[in-house]
Amino acid sequence: MAFRFLPLRLLAVAVLTASTSWAYAQTLAFSFDDGFNPTTQPQAAQWNAQLLESLQQHKIKATLFPSLARLGGTDGLELVASWSAQGHWVGNHTASHKSLADPAFTLEEFIADVELADTAFKDLPTFTPMLRFPYLKEGDTAAKRDGFRLWMAAHGYKSAPVSIDASDWYYSRIFAAHVEAGDSAKAERVKQHYIRHLLERARYYEQLAKEVLGRSPAHVILLHTNQLNAAALSDVIAAFTAEGWTITSTEAAFQDPLYAQLPDTLPAGESIIWALAKAQNMPNLRYPAEDSVYEEPSLKDAGLLP
Ligand SMILES: [Zn+2]
Repeated sequence: MAFRFLPLRLLAVAVLTASTSWAYAQTLAFSFDDGFNPTTQPQAAQWNAQLLESLQQHKIKATLFPSLARLGGTDGLELVASWSAQGHWVGNHTASHKSLADPAFTLEEFIADVELADTAFKDLPTFTPMLRFPYLKEGDTAAKRDGFRLWMAAHGYKSAPVSIDASDWYYSRIFAAHVEAGDSAKAERVKQHYIRHLLERARYYEQLAKEVLGRSPAHVILLHTNQLNAAALSDVIAAFTAEGWTITSTEAAFQDPLYAQLPDTLPAGESIIWALAKAQNMPNLRYPAEDSVYEEPSLKDAGLLP
């Protein structure tokens, strides 16, 4: 029966591809960092379940990059396992969540940290040997950056960069403060600001990608397992879909050759598109690429800072 609709679909494709500003080719995958700690976050199990439910409702497969330090040691391992049980990939985000760009943290210590987390997560059915660098920092020196790249190549590991970075962790902190104070109206307004922030950062990195790569890649966005995303993820997905984004799995998105590139920047890291732009000496790149300082003024103007 589907062939009956084919001519119309072909017509739509012809019309849309003729437009230079066609946004509908944009694809996006969701990745989540850290994991919940049931000991310090009494609602950890509930928030974790909300995230998984939103993904399931929208039939999305994501990747979780847990860090043992953010799970309270092994306290949150069961919650990590629930992601794997639902078919989401689980990667590695180190044991201690320390930055490779910290001059006091050596390459050898970083490798030991990655191996410790690998031991904790590698038996999960959907474990994938990909590392999400803490803070997206890939080293403060060429020796550390390249030394770890050699380690990954020798150990069957891949880096799991993001193309779209944002400050969800900051919005979640503000959101949580209003929820805690019982001000659900302000919490809801923060949520709306947050969704606009994600769409805006996605548009920015999409534009930067077109300048750097000459094409629109399969994007991977960095989000965190936090209270705000538990409350907002379904709305976030709906907002991206409404803007013409197609949601894909992280597994599919990481097939994009973009993610195998090794940008030559120091300190190394940030969004891989940002890093490639930096390596090309593209002007007007702020550093850090994303931070709370960029978000605070608009929340302050809106009277939403607690
Ligand atoms: Zn993290």
